[in-house]
Amino acid sequence: MSQKSYDESPTLYLIPTPIGNMEDLTYRTVEVLKMVDVLFCEDTRETGLLLNYLGIKKKLIANHEYNEEKNHEKVIQYLEEGKMVGLVSDRGTPVISDPGYELARYVIEKGYNVVALPGATALIPALITSSLAPMPFLFYGFLNSKKSKKEQELEQLKQETSTMIFYEAPHRIQETLEIMRKIFGDRKISLARELTKKYEEIYRGTITEILSNPLELKGEMVLVVEGNKEKKTFTNLSLKEHVELYMEDGLSKMDAIKKVAKERNMKKSEVYDIYLSEEEEK
Ligand code: SAM
Repeated sequence: MSQKSYDESPTLYLIPTPIGNMEDLTYRTVEVLKMVDVLFCEDTRETGLLLNYLGIKKKLIANHEYNEEKNHEKVIQYLEEGKMVGLVSDRGTPVISDPGYELARYVIEKGYNVVALPGATALIPALITSSLAPMPFLFYGFLNSKKSKKEQELEQLKQETSTMIFYEAPHRIQETLEIMRKIFGDRKISLARELTKKYEEIYRGTITEILSNPLELKGEMVLVVEGNKEKKTFTNLSLKEHVELYMEDGLSKMDAIKKVAKERNMKKSEVYDIYLSEEEEK
């Protein structure tokens, strides 16, 4: 199903708002904020302040994670009436670690246009100032706040070779970095806080270097972490560990053995025999 975004038919606009610096509003964002008939927003007070600053009066409807589902039909109703609908979150780009994903999906399923305005988001400035490889990257958003769940999530990410981007609350950053060092090893990271604001600050170094210096643990933070650089050589893995790594990724034992044989330039049967003997040694 294709969409012609600018055919003037009823549209849901996904509208980014500043992550700290009001000057980051684009001309187009302001025009679209003026043009839409109704604005769904995470917090009507927050959006009210923004619109006040811009001198715009608009009908606001609260759309937070608890009532997002109920709002689906409301949005469709407006679109059926030929209205233009906007969606904003409190900060940055909606949908990105913010409400909006289900709504946008629903509106697309119903055959209406969904248009995204490019604009402020915290992950891209954090990534491109990190001095870590910008591509490929994996945006993870928030890790689980429970320590045991966080550990599980990080275990699953341990072999990830892409640069990883996390959002994290300031009161959890120290613990997260310590868990990360335990699970990932002492990787290079970049910690960007208060992006676009007066006290913007970026810490770059290994996890140990960052933790051994006094950290300002206030404000909003994005953590960028170097991907696993060891995976390709496998020199640090036994053959059994190598096979099990792929099994953990979801491959069957035979497929994992096949893949390991190819990567190590060995015969499948040879890998199988060594794997079995290492298994028996356990
Ligand atoms: N939708 C937003 C975006 O596009 O980036 C993110 C919203 S999410 C609920 C809030 C998280 O984004 C914060 O906890 C922090 O990790 C990150 N964040 C937002 N503003 C930031 C800023 N000015 N500096 C650093 N991180 C920021």
